[in-house]
Amino acid sequence: MRILLVEDEPTLRAQLRAGLVEAGYVVDEADNGRDALHLGQTENVDAAVLDLGLPLLDGLSVLQRWRAAGRKLPVLILTARDSWHDKVTGIDAGADDYLAKPFHMEELLARLRGLIRRAQGLASPLLQCGALTLDTRSGRVALNGQAVSLTSHEHRLLAYLMHRPGSVVSRTELTEHLYAQDFDRDSNTIEVFVGRLRKKLPPGTIETLRGMGYRLVAPP
Ligand code: CA
Repeated sequence: MRILLVEDEPTLRAQLRAGLVEAGYVVDEADNGRDALHLGQTENVDAAVLDLGLPLLDGLSVLQRWRAAGRKLPVLILTARDSWHDKVTGIDAGADDYLAKPFHMEELLARLRGLIRRAQGLASPLLQCGALTLDTRSGRVALNGQAVSLTSHEHRLLAYLMHRPGSVVSRTELTEHLYAQDFDRDSNTIEVFVGRLRKKLPPGTIETLRGMGYRLVAPP
């Protein structure tokens, strides 16, 4: 999953980035509203963490413009402590959730997991596809209750598919959601990781639809 992180304060941004990367996300970042607006409109991210007080263009305007342009990405806004007004205005402008500074990284991660899940209509933190489960809280992947050991790349790929069971996901979509903007993207890489992931799952779990992409189906 790919997160757009928008925060102008360098220390906080670095901390957030580190926490997100450790949690397995790929991160694109912006330190001002103008870049944030552009990235949110052109890049396919799975969620945005958006500070409201930003140089060049404030976070609220960024959010309003994303929504006006039809961008539906889940947005978690960061507000100043005790600023109930910011929270109300932010939610009315199209934010999906808010977090008041200062906050614990754990809370930010939990809220993000919830936003990303709900964006796909998934209420439970335990994602299931037949006997295959992914606990989004711990990241644990299991097959019939037995832990499946995955590399971070394989995990990211499976997590994306587990959020969309039964849906056809193109290679381009996977490339966009599994790599940050500055990464040298090559869709062949996706094929390699799908191949590796398949070896760890029951045959037929990841279907290939020629010319269209991949689909996760319940393993027999
Ligand atoms: Ca700020």
